[in-house]
Amino acid sequence: ETFDIPVSELALNPRRGGPKNLPIVEYFVDDDEPNMKQNKHKPRLVVLGTGWGSVAVLKQLNPDDYHVTVISPSNHFLFTPMLPSATVGTLELRSLVEPIRKIVKSINGHFLKAMAEDVEFSEKLVEVSAVGADGKKQSFYVPYDKLVVGVGSVSNPHGVKGLEHCHFLKDISDARLIRNKVIQNLENACLPTTTDEERRRLLSFVVCGGGPTGVEFAAELFDMLNEDLCKFFPRILRNEISVHVIQSRSHILNTYDAALSEYAEKRFSHDSVDVQTDSRVKEVFNDKITYSQKDKDGKIITKEIPMGFCLWSTGVSQTDFSKKLAQKLDGQNNRHALETDTHLRLVGAPLGDVYAVGDCATVQNNVSDNIVSFLRTTAWEKGKDPEKLHLSYTDWRGIAKRVRQRFPQAADHLRRLDKLFAEYDKDSSGTLDFGELRELLTQIDNKLTSLPATAQRAHQQGQYLGRKFNKIAQAAPGMQLNEVDYGDLDEAVYKAFEYKHLGSLAYIGNAAIFDINGYGLSGGLLAVYLWRGVYFAQSVSFRTRCLLAMDWTKRALFGRGKFPSL
Ligand code: FAD
Repeated sequence: ETFDIPVSELALNPRRGGPKNLPIVEYFVDDDEPNMKQNKHKPRLVVLGTGWGSVAVLKQLNPDDYHVTVISPSNHFLFTPMLPSATVGTLELRSLVEPIRKIVKSINGHFLKAMAEDVEFSEKLVEVSAVGADGKKQSFYVPYDKLVVGVGSVSNPHGVKGLEHCHFLKDISDARLIRNKVIQNLENACLPTTTDEERRRLLSFVVCGGGPTGVEFAAELFDMLNEDLCKFFPRILRNEISVHVIQSRSHILNTYDAALSEYAEKRFSHDSVDVQTDSRVKEVFNDKITYSQKDKDGKIITKEIPMGFCLWSTGVSQTDFSKKLAQKLDGQNNRHALETDTHLRLVGAPLGDVYAVGDCATVQNNVSDNIVSFLRTTAWEKGKDPEKLHLSYTDWRGIAKRVRQRFPQAADHLRRLDKLFAEYDKDSSGTLDFGELRELLTQIDNKLTSLPATAQRAHQQGQYLGRKFNKIAQAAPGMQLNEVDYGDLDEAVYKAFEYKHLGSLAYIGNAAIFDINGYGLSGGLLAVYLWRGVYFAQSVSFRTRCLLAMDWTKRALFGRGKFPSL
């Protein structure tokens, strides 16, 4: 038993085991902390990651129900929605982070700054690696009774070459690098040795991806260049600056209501932010970016933009760790995320042992089947042949609204379905081609399972799991959880997870847009204050709220923080 061995001794005489015969780090004893010893009889809950999903789990947990160990390479929680503001100094980086040890301490848990490498599901061991004091990588196992996988995602390279010349915006260190690069370009552009052509290149900023992150970054960058640059840099620079957004779809913010994405496009066009739609990046070079674009006749042409800075923000894909787990488990068929059931239990893992939340996970769902059966029932109720459906357009609007509320990521496909239904409605004798409908609905399913990456969803899933774990601990205290002893405990104690979409919002440069279940709201200063208010309320602690308020006040009084020094 390793339960009462102090950490130092544990390092010298570890119990070894598992398929790789690695040390098994069962328990850390902290002599100053009496609660720790009490924890040894409780179920071991291991949480991987310190992002939106995992932190929401931790914040819900009752302090004394589980022995909690959190494992992550980041020792802070990052409030990602405000990260674009930190790249240009509107907000300070420290206003967006909360030390994870503070959160872990409140539930008497442990934190390990380390990476999960693998999971041995049959032996309930997580393989973990960390760089030791000697600078070498060390591996060990952490045992669990329940495991939560909340490891997030990585930027999706889409197979494009030259991404080493791009910046990314996922973590606090990325924001710092971007801030320094932007300022460095401005300073270099001012040097007397810089040629005109080189200056224009240095001042050309390209954003690949017209989703919320890309758009918000472009807006913040434009604000900074427009508001602070003219104060501190020669006038000539202002006229030579260009900001470009390259978007593969026909509109930016294409998951938002069409009117809102049009509003954002108009705003960008007014601010001279160049938006290239229907464009796919081919390659990124040190000094330029090439992309293909459909011209008016539908012909594909290749274009290029010389640039001094490029942000790659074109969506997310699976981490290597998640891919490894998916390969090991039966029933994992999704290329984009780990599949869970509606109780957020990892498909293929022993029932009730392993859960997955946030960007790394997707709930196995069959929207196609649900909609098809919905249509069938509707047809049946109306006394029509379900194989030759004819729904009125009004019927369809009702269905589409409900689908969109639950699955905002399916907006594109719903628009296509919408058109289809509108056409059928024109010809009242027409019947709906069921094959075509099914095909479109399958596309909706694929889209749903490939792009569910929002903080809102991760947070709701984390809260759900935390609440459920509390219920499970009350129902079966000190349990050794398994399906043989307890049957389907999850189902017995708590309802299935249901996502409630509360709306989407985005900052678009001294203006903001809100998409609340299909109802759009857009506007200038008032909307910006509303946008700030929402995030202020959601911010993780009282400390971060105070810091945010101070940053906004400082900016209003003195301009952006770190600008223009490095
Ligand atoms: P994350 O928050 O990414 O956390 C993953 C955690 O896992 C991290 O702590 C990481 O260090 C850790 N980890 C990674 N690998 C391992 C491993 N092998 N072992 C252990 N730990 C590991 N969403 C919105 O809803 N609204 C917005 O306005 C919004 N704006 C955004 C702006 C930006 C710039 C970005 C980058 C994202 C934004 N998002 C927004 C998306 C949102 O941040 C993500 O959907 C959310 O962070 C997902 O939460 P998560 O817990 O799944 O993962």
